[in-house]
Amino acid sequence: MLNIAIDGPSGAGKSTIAKEIAKRLNIIYLDTGAMYRAIGLKAVRLGIDTEDVQGVTGILDSTQIEIKYEDGVQIIYLDGEDVSTAIREHHISKAASNVSKIPAVRLKLVAMQREIAAKNNVVLDGRDITSYVLKDANNKFYLTATPEERAKRRYKELVEKGQNVDYETILADINDRDYNDTHRDFAPLTRTEDSVFIDSTELTIEQAIEKILSYIKM
Ligand code: C5P
Repeated sequence: MLNIAIDGPSGAGKSTIAKEIAKRLNIIYLDTGAMYRAIGLKAVRLGIDTEDVQGVTGILDSTQIEIKYEDGVQIIYLDGEDVSTAIREHHISKAASNVSKIPAVRLKLVAMQREIAAKNNVVLDGRDITSYVLKDANNKFYLTATPEERAKRRYKELVEKGQNVDYETILADINDRDYNDTHRDFAPLTRTEDSVFIDSTELTIEQAIEKILSYIKM
């Protein structure tokens, strides 16, 4: 199977780039962050503190996450409900980051990710794909950009959507998530030696896509 693993911090452009690569190669795209977001959403809806390890672990057995594809687009279901839009709300980012520190959450989702990768040609993006989920993937990338550039892009995106946001808050949020993702005990975000390093600070989306495609071994 062709498995393309892309890791990197929040806002580096991973999902936009991974989606486009999947389209051009006619393979599926698995957004692993969406799975952590779905668990975060469930905890928030149930009024469980997303930092409460026992509380969150306790809901896992009765939580069903499913990934389906409609016209090549990933749809994520939480207990049978399509939550693809609900998981994108701003406060769910922090909830996802919190629940992603809990080992039982990671074990459940990693098992699903490995199963999908074993059965499909897939581009996956996340934080621990190259270092943990698919250590032996044939194509591994680490995509990043400076925190300021990532905050600038996010700010622009939200302003274009008509949201009233503040650049400094977004930058602080990015730094906070970076800290969380790189400092957790279990499978933290790290750049593996065998990943191709791509700094997209000075690149357009198209340039980053072409760069990644140029390294892909079929
Ligand atoms: O990529 P996205 O921002 O949607 O991911 C939401 C959160 O889920 C991240 O902040 C990160 O903490 C967590 N995550 C993770 N491992 C992955 C993907 C996402 O810990 N493979």
